[in-house]
Amino acid sequence: MADTQSPDAIARNVQTVLDNIRQAALRAGRNPESVRLIAATKTVAPARVRTAIEAGVRILGENRLQEALPKIEAVGDCEGVVWHFIGRLQRRKVKAVVGRFQMIHSVDSLDLAAEINRRAAEAGLVQAVLMEVNIGEEPTKGGLAPAAVAEAVAAIKALPNLSVLGLMAVPPLATDPEAARPYFRRLRELVLSLPYEDVKELSMGMSQDYAVAVEEGATMVRIGTAIFGARRG
Ligand SMILES: *Cc1c(COP(=O)(O)O)cnc(C)c1O
Repeated sequence: MADTQSPDAIARNVQTVLDNIRQAALRAGRNPESVRLIAATKTVAPARVRTAIEAGVRILGENRLQEALPKIEAVGDCEGVVWHFIGRLQRRKVKAVVGRFQMIHSVDSLDLAAEINRRAAEAGLVQAVLMEVNIGEEPTKGGLAPAAVAEAVAAIKALPNLSVLGLMAVPPLATDPEAARPYFRRLRELVLSLPYEDVKELSMGMSQDYAVAVEEGATMVRIGTAIFGARRG
């Protein structure tokens, strides 16, 4: 469990994950440096997060603002370490997220993008974001429909205080990591189909399927369980 995994185990897990990312990149003929590890830290206590940082993690991903704010405070400033927002973002929480997180992975509507732009302008900064895509077109899931992505990115490109850098997706739940491959491939094809050189990040792949995601072009993988152990609840 997240709170019982020993520091040694966390450090070992980080090395294993980094090694697996490297191997998957090399298998696909990619530069391993082109893939960044994001440790997904929901439910993980600050001391464990620090252990992961000591083991080499540089990007931390949080899902919920209420949980993230005290955790960011408790972990404290660490050289070269940044936080990303990877969970569903509610409009009324945008003000607190903008500027605190280096990147928001989960922009799924123009309305949300407009609010981020407004708050970023107030704060005098440009917020980096990814568009979340409902790549499996699942009725129960958030994210833009694949067919809506090109138009949404074009509209968001016009917002001066928002910088859209790529796409993010969570493929349909499956026990076999290979089941996710066609969805990862589709997300990559989608990002390649966009007429912008600077929209190229692909945030895809979690504990179970990140090796497949890296083979299919992921530039960021979001890993929780494989580093910190199973979450409670
Ligand atoms: C929890 C979470 C992850 C990590 O999931 P694991 O299966 O534990 O690796 C990745 N992305 C998002 C959006 C998450 O909420």
